[in-house]
Amino acid sequence: MTIKVGILGFGGLGQAAAKLLAGKQEMTLVAIADRDGYAYSSSGLNVSAAIAAYQAKGSVGHLESYGTASQDSIANLIATARDVDGYFLALPNLPNTFMASVARQFIQSGWQGVLVDAIKRTSAVEQLIDLSGDLAAHRITYMTGCGATPGLLTAAASIAAQSFAEVHSVEITFGVGIANWAAYRATIREDIAHMPGYSVETAQAMTDAEVEALLEKTNGIITLENMEHADDILLERLGICDRSRVTVGGVVDTRNPKKPLSTNMKLTGRTFEGKISTHTFTLGDETSMAANVCGSAFGYLKAGKMLHQRHIHGLFTSAEVMPLFVR
Ligand code: NAD
Repeated sequence: MTIKVGILGFGGLGQAAAKLLAGKQEMTLVAIADRDGYAYSSSGLNVSAAIAAYQAKGSVGHLESYGTASQDSIANLIATARDVDGYFLALPNLPNTFMASVARQFIQSGWQGVLVDAIKRTSAVEQLIDLSGDLAAHRITYMTGCGATPGLLTAAASIAAQSFAEVHSVEITFGVGIANWAAYRATIREDIAHMPGYSVETAQAMTDAEVEALLEKTNGIITLENMEHADDILLERLGICDRSRVTVGGVVDTRNPKKPLSTNMKLTGRTFEGKISTHTFTLGDETSMAANVCGSAFGYLKAGKMLHQRHIHGLFTSAEVMPLFVR
């Protein structure tokens, strides 16, 4: 039996996630929601048709036979698609409380299953941690921080830590190259929110023209240092190191699909014999942000499904559960 999957948010990551699922036997895409509508078919949606409807008419609500226009698409979809095993939340976290509010919507709906997010900010993950008890009580298995960073690279840090008696630093540096910022509007706005002088509120309020004007000034490059990224509390929660020892930064080129630098995670520590050393995990330059985020998200969805089948509910993170490869 395949795992029936839903995708909430059908922008850059949501569409990439749908394309990735088209090549998988173990998962079937049955439900999609975007801001203006939703689509559902218990036997599976046609990915190309869903993307064509979104791109031509702005919403999967226009998908022939299976689409419904709605201004309350997430609630309507949850109520309609009762047989979905798990959702990937490819939604913008704007405002910074949005993802937690979606989690509460699921809790209130009575639906039971697996939820996976690729959320980034520490303060956003903290809101989900606060919901742990409610998620468990309502038989939801929620996997948080399951993109690339946090996600794949945090999991790599968690594995790398095993060689050491004491972890001194975890340094995550990402390089992202995208041909056009408009394909990933939420990602870019959330990145701008980390720039000096900007906040989540100011970045959310920026018009597309204002984003373009800013990118014009920086030649399309966003350079980020010391970001508020949840990799820090995910590792701290496990006792690997204090959050102050985890740093995240990177470079995003919004005008070139080639990565400006190789994404990597460097963990330095002291072994039980007293040797200081560094483990490094570097992603292949040809792997896109979409491949690294969506691949990980579905790996964690499969792991979450296994936990859910064993009646293990509540909140889990990318640093404490091994993602399972989806065939
Ligand atoms: P996007 O702007 O391209 O698309 C957002 C989608 O969400 C759109 O389809 C929009 O219609 C939909 N949406 C917005 N509000 C909605 C609502 N209220 N109800 C239903 N649908 C709604 O976004 P993106 O660039 O694909 O980014 C998605 C998220 O992924 C962002 O939060 C970003 O930070 C995150 N992300 C995480 C990582 C990681 O490594 N962890 C990497 C990249 C992106």
